Amino acid sequence: MSIVIIGAGLAGATAATELRAQGYDGEIVLVGAEPTPPYERPPLSKGYLLGKDAFDSALVHEQPWYLEHDIDLRLGTRATAIDRERRIVRLEPAGGGPSAEVSYDALLLATGATARQLDMGDDVGEFLTLRSVEDSTRLKEAFRSGTKVAIVGAGWIGLEVAAAAREAGSDVTVFETAALPLERVLGPEVATVFADLHRGHGVDLRLSTTVTPADLADADVRIAAIGVTPDVELAASAGLEIATREQGGGVLVDAMLRTSDPRVLAIGDIANHDHPVLGRRIRVEHWDTAIEQAKVAARNLAGADEPYERLPYFFTDQYDLGMEYVGSVGPDGYDRVDIEGSTDVLAGDAFRAFWVRGGTVVAAMHANDWDASDAIRDSIGSRR
Ligand SMILES: Cc1cc2nc3c(=O)[nH]c(=O)nc-3n(C[C@H](O)[C@H](O)[C@H](O)COP(=O)(O)OP(=O)(O)OC[C@H]3O[C@@H](n4cnc5c(N)ncnc54)[C@H](O)[C@@H]3O)c2cc1C
Repeated sequence: MSIVIIGAGLAGATAATELRAQGYDGEIVLVGAEPTPPYERPPLSKGYLLGKDAFDSALVHEQPWYLEHDIDLRLGTRATAIDRERRIVRLEPAGGGPSAEVSYDALLLATGATARQLDMGDDVGEFLTLRSVEDSTRLKEAFRSGTKVAIVGAGWIGLEVAAAAREAGSDVTVFETAALPLERVLGPEVATVFADLHRGHGVDLRLSTTVTPADLADADVRIAAIGVTPDVELAASAGLEIATREQGGGVLVDAMLRTSDPRVLAIGDIANHDHPVLGRRIRVEHWDTAIEQAKVAARNLAGADEPYERLPYFFTDQYDLGMEYVGSVGPDGYDRVDIEGSTDVLAGDAFRAFWVRGGTVVAAMHANDWDASDAIRDSIGSRR
């Protein structure tokens, strides 16, 4: 039996790890377009970007581990076509050169996502984005005392990058079309906390604003942090079913993470998953989902029939604030948010928040209250 994993990121590498941990001793080919062994991306906007952590600490495993565990890791290699009838994947060196083929009995797609670029014409030029370690290194080098940094987008990445740039002493302006940062995820009650946090650290946060070239004229560094596009081209060209934009994009997978071809599974940022607990489709771009879906997919590749039931989980670190969030409010929204504690996070205070719909908690978070991790997870689905 041969398992081919396309995408040597967090999800792909975790699946290979779990296959070996489960005792699977067949062939594993792990194909990655990047030249570096699989790594975790959260440090790219936190410890690594801040210059506090070395890149090696972000690696899923040191490179020799793959050889020691008989995993055929093909770095700098792109999968360019899947022939599902012959069960063959075509591979091409990312830098050009002769192509090769590998055959599979089961295939796992974990191709992740690409940061969206912003095109504001030739006068503005290209924006920097943040997805890879190379991107993070470039930003780290650009963030200097007095450098003028303009960030378009006040989502998680935009805000973490803003915090890192401020900590490096740069002047930071953030442009956001919504009335509050993170408003779509957190709602106004908690999103306000993040607006206050960044303003309190000297960020010029311009909300309800559509950025224009004139706004960017004197910026030394321009960064687009406007979300990602899931990398589904390979899956689409192989004829697998793809989610529409309205469905959230990505590759359609069932509760067991199987695509429209039962021999092919998809996980991580590309998986548009039929979530059995939430009762709806969801595509989650989070670290925890990449890891946990990989574990379930590995077991299913090895013959199990296990649904993926874990609720979305997310964390962020910005300045001295650390938070964890569990659950999903979803399209039906919420009736109220119960906040316990003090939201004065600039003063180092801690709080818990519970998003409630129909008397039931649908999402919960804490800020600066690390003892609350289990309590917020356990609160989901409880009555309030
Ligand atoms: C800067 C940054 C900070 C983040 N911080 C957080 C955080 O604080 N908390 C959190 O929960 N989440 C965070 N995330 C999100 C989290 O990192 C992602 O959800 C996670 O990386 C998804 O894992 P993945 O394996 O699906 O995709 P990826 O990590 O993107 O890996 C996919 C890999 O597949 C490769 N690939 C793509 N196509 C091909 C192909 N055809 N052939 C071969 N290889 C291919 C890509 O080059 C890439 O290496 C952050 C993301 C970024 C970018």
